[in-house]
Amino acid sequence: MEKHELQSLIEDLHGKYQSLDEGEVATYIPELGKANVDDFGVCLVTSDGRIFETGDCDRPFTIQSMSKPFTFGMAIEELGQEKVLQYVGVEPSGDAFNSIELQSGTNRPYNPMINTGAITVTALLHARHGDRTFDAVLARFSAAAGRPLTIDEAVYQSECRTGHRNRAIAHLLLNFDMVHQEAEAALDVYFKQCSILVTCHDLAIMAATLSNMGRNPLTRHEVFDIRCIRDMLSIMFTCGMYDYSGQWAYRVGVPAKSGVSGGVMAVVNRQLGMAVYSPPLDMHGNSRRGIEVCVELAARLGLHAFDCLNFGSSFLKVVL
Ligand code: GLN
Repeated sequence: MEKHELQSLIEDLHGKYQSLDEGEVATYIPELGKANVDDFGVCLVTSDGRIFETGDCDRPFTIQSMSKPFTFGMAIEELGQEKVLQYVGVEPSGDAFNSIELQSGTNRPYNPMINTGAITVTALLHARHGDRTFDAVLARFSAAAGRPLTIDEAVYQSECRTGHRNRAIAHLLLNFDMVHQEAEAALDVYFKQCSILVTCHDLAIMAATLSNMGRNPLTRHEVFDIRCIRDMLSIMFTCGMYDYSGQWAYRVGVPAKSGVSGGVMAVVNRQLGMAVYSPPLDMHGNSRRGIEVCVELAARLGLHAFDCLNFGSSFLKVVL
């Protein structure tokens, strides 16, 4: 049988970018510094559950900041948009993911895709679930991936020991009444959520769950209420790639989120979830190979939300 066009395409891109020898593995969480710079996986999952993958798609790594859209979605679903937006904004910060700044006037974090906002969101979940918060987060992430996930205890301990900047953020938020008095307990949940182990394969399924309006396309489980998907994807579109988000929207044009472990996941609304794993990062903290693969996939398949030339031709013809 002839190889599927999408499978050939990702194998080509994997071959082309394997030799791209740029970027640095994150070391500010010491345990992440042990990542293998050559690990490289690319996985696509269509919204109707077809899987195309190549390279290291079964190698586990920690989800890190790619946890942020999912906890935000949980908060929107469980607490409602109005309540969540009292505590966190929807504006790109134009700054690094770990910057210590809040919006003037409201003292809210700029958005939930950076650490200030994500810690606030986790604290909102903690105010609701208390000691069971992490279990609720893990259950939801597992449903999105379609299998029971676990945490990397060594990465969690490493971040607990060295996460002084995040601790400072939690206390700043406490000072401004953006988190409740159990800020430390909420921060502990945040460190744990970042330490959840996924593979590139899992991440692409999680992205495909969002592309399929909240329903996991393989298990058919409704993981997120359809009403919070728009909130999740629009924040990923404007704020998901740190202070590269504007360039990403311009060049790739789909909602996405990256993490310092070297993962990038992207969502083509109602069509496709994509994930790339490759640990070396660029100056913004985005996977170096991940960016290149996604830019080229978007161009070759006409994935950009505002693509007028390709849309409806190459990609839809191949997949739908
Ligand atoms: N756990 C990391 C932190 O909070 C996540 C950062 C990231 O992936 N950008 O610093």
